[in-house]
Amino acid sequence: MPGHIFGRSTKGALPVAVRGDGCYIIDSGGKRYLDGSGGAAVSCLGHSDAAVRAALHGQLDSLAFAHTGFFTSEPAEALADTLVAHAPAGIDRVYLVSGGSEAVEASIKLARQYFMETGQPQRHRVIARRQSYHGNTLGALAAGGNEWRRAQFAPLLVETSHIAPCYEYRDRRDGETPEAYGLRAADELEAEIQRLGPETVMAFIAEPVVGATSGAVPAVPGYLKRIREICDRHGVLLILDEVMCGMGRTGYLFACEEDGIAPDMITIAKGLGAGYQPIGALLTSGRIYDAIAAGSGFFQHGHTYMGHPMAAAAANAVLERILNQGLLARVREQGAKLDAALRAELGQHPHVGDIRGRGLFRGVELVGDRATKAPFDPARKLHAKVKALAFEAGLICYPMGGTIDGQRGDHILLAPPFIIEDAQIGELVGKLSGAIRGALA
Ligand code: PMP
Repeated sequence: MPGHIFGRSTKGALPVAVRGDGCYIIDSGGKRYLDGSGGAAVSCLGHSDAAVRAALHGQLDSLAFAHTGFFTSEPAEALADTLVAHAPAGIDRVYLVSGGSEAVEASIKLARQYFMETGQPQRHRVIARRQSYHGNTLGALAAGGNEWRRAQFAPLLVETSHIAPCYEYRDRRDGETPEAYGLRAADELEAEIQRLGPETVMAFIAEPVVGATSGAVPAVPGYLKRIREICDRHGVLLILDEVMCGMGRTGYLFACEEDGIAPDMITIAKGLGAGYQPIGALLTSGRIYDAIAAGSGFFQHGHTYMGHPMAAAAANAVLERILNQGLLARVREQGAKLDAALRAELGQHPHVGDIRGRGLFRGVELVGDRATKAPFDPARKLHAKVKALAFEAGLICYPMGGTIDGQRGDHILLAPPFIIEDAQIGELVGKLSGAIRGALA
């Protein structure tokens, strides 16, 4: 944990990052690290994007900050307009915050206020999925299904229950089509809403492609459509958390475009600022906003730095690069190459159970036994060994343990910058393969 946390100095314990150069971070000793995971799916434009840097210099020279209690600003308005212009149908309101947890926290509070304003105060429950992560603030933590993160803070303030994730590799039965599996998995939501009492359920939250807890696990075709139908049938709001998978990471600006559905709310962050500035957003519909506007008049929420002009200026430059300079197509193209290279290098490995993902959002799951899919003993901490060996070799990747729910294998999440070149894909896969083989040796 960097940054002198509670007085514990990180100096000497971690390399000191001093410079960015495209897909690489360079430390104070001159060592170069290929950023194979964009940190945690953040640095989608690499570390030295000229356009974003110029936008930030320009904004700093005109206006650094104006509090949203008094002013709006040109970059914040432009950002909201761009997001709405490209958002799924019906999504036309934007609430700018400083990161992913803030966006999720705002979504839960907005859902609650919506039902309070519309005469349904009994709707207070959230349903989410096991093996999910939605952030670390209290509401977002309550929504997430990562027991390890939740345990120390229980009881959590928002009443949440968890259904199974959509996890084809582990849960699709032999002979079952992906579509049939998706419907079966989605129908768990129906059963859970019935169990809780539909009139008490406020929202369902899920990532279209699960990132941190599971290693780029995409929803199967039809899953989210069925989820949408179930939410509609019961008046439950559908929140899609695209903090990791959104902003072009899957080859679409919003991951849910590929699933052909529009949620009631979308949370975004990470790639929106691409690491150049901390920024996130909650996107929602006029239907929800107008109900609140007609009631108490405004969303009772807010943070000092929301709509920050510098952060918005960075995000505008990032979106300009993504939307108008061919990066979405490039993500699909380079993503297919990364997938092919991973399969060629690791597809037959006796301890690689699954290779999956969309666009430049890919996951590799390690298992003790390919036939039974039995994970390695968590005590081996295989993921930590892969991370350390890769780092030593000059590769940043994002591995996670197989301890959650005791069911899954260790996995490695890859989310390289959209500008990654073919040769760098080769370097990434070569170094990752070396680290996996070394960790297993
Ligand atoms: N939602 C998801 C899906 C995430 O992956 C994360 C961060 N890993 C968050 C929310 C929280 O975002 P932040 O760390 O910016 O608060």
